[in-house]
Amino acid sequence: MGYLVGEPNKGLKYMFQMMNGARIDVGMTAASAATAAYYASLQYAKERPQGRKIMNSGKKDVTEAQTLIINHPDVRRMLFLQKAIVEASLSLLIECSKHADLAHCETGDKKIVHHLLLELLTPIAKTYPSEMGRDSINNGLQILGGYGFCMDFPLQQYLRDIRIMSIYEGTTGIQSLDLLGRKIPMDNGRALKLLNEDVGLTIGNARKYPELTPYAAKLEQTMSDIKKALEYLMPYAMNGDYENYLADATVFMEMTSTVIIALQWLKMAVSATKEMNNGNKKFKNSFYESKIYTMKFYFKYELPKAKACLETLINTDKLTIVDENNELYF
Ligand SMILES: Cc1cc2nc3c(=O)[nH]c(=O)nc-3n(C[C@H](O)[C@H](O)[C@H](O)COP(=O)(O)OP(=O)(O)OC[C@H]3O[C@@H](n4cnc5c(N)ncnc54)[C@H](O)[C@@H]3O)c2cc1C
Repeated sequence: MGYLVGEPNKGLKYMFQMMNGARIDVGMTAASAATAAYYASLQYAKERPQGRKIMNSGKKDVTEAQTLIINHPDVRRMLFLQKAIVEASLSLLIECSKHADLAHCETGDKKIVHHLLLELLTPIAKTYPSEMGRDSINNGLQILGGYGFCMDFPLQQYLRDIRIMSIYEGTTGIQSLDLLGRKIPMDNGRALKLLNEDVGLTIGNARKYPELTPYAAKLEQTMSDIKKALEYLMPYAMNGDYENYLADATVFMEMTSTVIIALQWLKMAVSATKEMNNGNKKFKNSFYESKIYTMKFYFKYELPKAKACLETLINTDKLTIVDENNELYF
């Protein structure tokens, strides 16, 4: 026997409501696998002795005991990358959950505002933890060297487990088409305007603290790069040339998610700085300092990638578009 759920002929709309929840769940599963991998590789890096620290003279003292690999800058870089990806993924997923709750509870325009932000952020909250979570696990596996590849440690399993996240509930390609093709133009671009307001608010809050001011400026710059990309792409959509408009949707997703994650990191750094100055803080200073430090890591190592995406997006060579008069090159 079958049951009709809701009103007749509205099934597809209901299905997408369910899918949006499922996409956030996939993002959360990816973030969870990446978090487990981060703690496994962190523990290994704290236990494994290998090599010696490079001295200022550039020589090694072979009579000295080996150092733990966590003391090598390249290993610390990989650990920071993992931490930067997993903690910001979680933060973005919590942000989406907040919008989902408020879209449910609020009324009037506030309800619409939270609904629009949730719609805009959902493809990113599914894709970033799935794609970059895989990158973070891959780096975690690298920290274990040969043991990372072997079944004695769980990293190889986490890497396989996360691989499905960018495929099911809509592949990364499809999420990217959703972001650029539906969510950006939705409601005359209102969701993007609301996101811009959120960025402006965060930048204003960060500028209250001298230590965070340079990072506020960097976020402002990359947000304006998203605008530049859209200024280049939008005329294609206006002229009905959707193939050109959407050809590099995945590059646009990479750029936007890189900037959104910077926004989440700056929000966390603002909260951490504020909390450190608060007499009733919940955690030790090292907890808040680690958030600010990881934000700086993200802005140095990851955020510049948004600029490279912009360069690709505004490049006028149409290398992936099939022209019927051209032969295919593969
Ligand atoms: C372990 C596992 C569990 C699953 N569980 C479920 C489940 O519970 N329920 C369910 O319904 N499904 C489930 N699936 C199916 C899953 O959702 C699909 O595999 C996924 O949506 C991709 O579809 P596809 O495999 O047909 O790939 P295709 O649609 O053939 O896509 C192949 C490639 O082409 C790209 N592509 C396709 N169309 C376009 C386009 N228009 N523009 C640009 N690029 C495009 C895709 O991004 C992808 O890279 C599961 C799959 C697996 C592997």
